[in-house]
Amino acid sequence: MSEMLIVGAGPVGAVCALALQQQGIAARVLEAQPLDARADTRTLALSYGSRLILDRLGVWDRIEGATPITRIHISQRGALGVARLSASEVQVSALGYVLPYASLTAVLKQALADAGIAVDYGVAVAGIESDTACATLRTAAGDTLTAPLVVVADGGRGAKAADPKISRDYDQTAVVCDVQTELPHGDQAYERFTPEGPAALLPNGDRYALVWTAANADAQRIAALSDAEFLDALYRHFGGRQGRFVAASSRKTFPLKLAYTGSEASDRVVRIGNAAQTLHPVAGQGFNIGLRDAWELAGLCGDTPADEVGSADMLRAYVRGRRVDVLGGVGFTDFLVRVFSNDIAPLRHARGLGLLALEVFPPLKSFVARRMIFGARG
Ligand SMILES: Cc1cc2nc3c(=O)[nH]c(=O)nc-3n(C[C@H](O)[C@H](O)[C@H](O)COP(=O)(O)OP(=O)(O)OC[C@H]3O[C@@H](n4cnc5c(N)ncnc54)[C@H](O)[C@@H]3O)c2cc1C
Repeated sequence: MSEMLIVGAGPVGAVCALALQQQGIAARVLEAQPLDARADTRTLALSYGSRLILDRLGVWDRIEGATPITRIHISQRGALGVARLSASEVQVSALGYVLPYASLTAVLKQALADAGIAVDYGVAVAGIESDTACATLRTAAGDTLTAPLVVVADGGRGAKAADPKISRDYDQTAVVCDVQTELPHGDQAYERFTPEGPAALLPNGDRYALVWTAANADAQRIAALSDAEFLDALYRHFGGRQGRFVAASSRKTFPLKLAYTGSEASDRVVRIGNAAQTLHPVAGQGFNIGLRDAWELAGLCGDTPADEVGSADMLRAYVRGRRVDVLGGVGFTDFLVRVFSNDIAPLRHARGLGLLALEVFPPLKSFVARRMIFGARG
């Protein structure tokens, strides 16, 4: 079988290449960034299920600086209702992990090199043509490459971007940075819902990674506050469960939206990861769904007769197999953002009851925790 082509060596593309190799399938990866490009400073929340995938690929033990989340505290500002999830209740060592995007991509880059997987760095894919027999990819430099299957894992910014089937502009932007609190985090994460949008504190080393969701019009103003003003504003916004906020790194912003593009079961091209679905970070679903896309696709390629890999039948099976997990994650995330980002009284009370039910009803707690860890089929 000729080698597969993967567009993008982000976490999802890299995991796909490694998982394909475990299935005995060769892949070549094309990455627009040069080999020595500095990865950006974003922080990722990885579910326990994603850790298991990285374990099976032999990369988990090589990652440095992953902080476990053993407890999650969920609340809403200005109303009753608190729910607490803990790893021990679902019998796992951690509900998830927080780690720098740069650490993960550096380890994956090394794993690709160690596995002898060909990665062409600094090669941007400019276009993809395909028919029922094969897909042909054109680089920005004008070279062409052909494969029975092209896996697009370009984060949704590249060559084969299609119109989303489901999209929503939340009019929200995330302000992200690291913050230090007066009290140590003890591996506990917070999700606090406010009418302006959710705010998450994720334990990250000896600090917290903050994801503060604000209306577009406010986010730039918040990000531009001086350190002292920012720390005060955050205390007013989030409250004092961790004591005062005492330090913050420089603030970055990124726009939040829902774009579900999915993949069609035709023409030897499949989209995975953020290229297929970009989600609001509220429930930490998007990135973990992307890793499951890569893992499941590789498994399916391994189970498919060599001359059928990339066929319409195989891609139909892939789309069918991923539907529940992906659309479940899209729906769950969208529900949380829309139901929690407002100050409508009946909804506020219903949310309070929902959080109370989650707190006192163990099967519901276990259901929510398992779906956050393993996805809709958890
Ligand atoms: C600005 C920003 C901040 C974010 N912050 C957070 C956060 O704080 N927490 C969180 O959980 N999630 C965050 N996310 C989401 C998270 O980064 C994604 O879920 C995750 O990175 C998806 O992985 P991926 O491999 O699908 O895509 P990406 O990580 O985007 O990787 C795509 C790769 O494809 C390459 N590429 C793109 N176009 C081409 C092309 N034409 N040819 C070749 N290669 C190409 C890119 O260079 C990149 O290496 C953020 C996303 C963005 C855009």
